[in-house]
Amino acid sequence: MSTGDLTSHNQVIVLQDGYSYQDADNESHMRANCTSTLIRCRDGTNVIVDTMTAWDGEHLQTLLHGQGLDAKDIHVVVCTHGHSDHIGCNYLFQTARMHLVGACASNRDLYMDHFGGGDETEELALDSNKEVLVRRTPGHTLSCVSVIVNNSQLGGTVGITGDLFERKEDIDDDSIWRDAGSEDPKSQEEERWKMAEICDFIVPGHGPIFPVNAIVRSKLKIPENK
Ligand SMILES: [Zn+2]
Repeated sequence: MSTGDLTSHNQVIVLQDGYSYQDADNESHMRANCTSTLIRCRDGTNVIVDTMTAWDGEHLQTLLHGQGLDAKDIHVVVCTHGHSDHIGCNYLFQTARMHLVGACASNRDLYMDHFGGGDETEELALDSNKEVLVRRTPGHTLSCVSVIVNNSQLGGTVGITGDLFERKEDIDDDSIWRDAGSEDPKSQEEERWKMAEICDFIVPGHGPIFPVNAIVRSKLKIPENK
C-alpha cells in the first residue's frame, strides 16, 4: 500500500472502528458507537466525519492527538446523520467553519443553504481541489449524507457512508442494515448500489473499512426488473 504524501493524495484515517451489538444483560438493548474518520485533504483542509457519543470527548481528542492534530485544527465537521452516536462531540470543534449534520449546514447560529434547493444530485466540495465531496444518500434517515474521497492514499475512491452500510457483513445479510432502522429501505438499497458503483472502499457506520470488489458489487446491484 502506498501512503503517498500529504500533497499528492487525500488521506483517509479511520480513528476508531464503530460497533453495534445486542447488550449482554438486556436483549432489547443495544450497544453502539460510530466509526469516526479523519480526512486530511491534500489542500490542507481537515475534516472529521462522525464524532461518536457525547461521552467520548476526551477519547476523541486523544485519537486526534495521535495524528498530531488538535480539535482546533479541524475545518469541517460532517455527521452522516443526526443520531446521538454520530454527533456527540461536535462541541469540540468550535473553530470549524462548518458543521454539516445530515444535509443541514451551520456555523453557530448561522444556517447555510447547502442541500436546500431540493436537488437530489447536489454535491458539496469540502476541499479546493473538489476531490472530497458530500452528497445525499437517503435511506437510514431521509437526511443522510455520505462523504466521497477521490484520489485517496488507499488507491482509489473511499465512501464514508455512515449507516447506509452498517458493517461489511450487511452485504450478505441485509437484515443487519434493515433492522438497524431504515426510514426508507427502497431508497437505501438504491443508494447502497450507487455508492458501491463508484467506491473502491467503504467506511461503514458501525464497523471497519472494507474493500468493494466485483463480488460485492454483484451482490448489491439491483436487478432491472425490480
Ligand atoms: Zn449509527
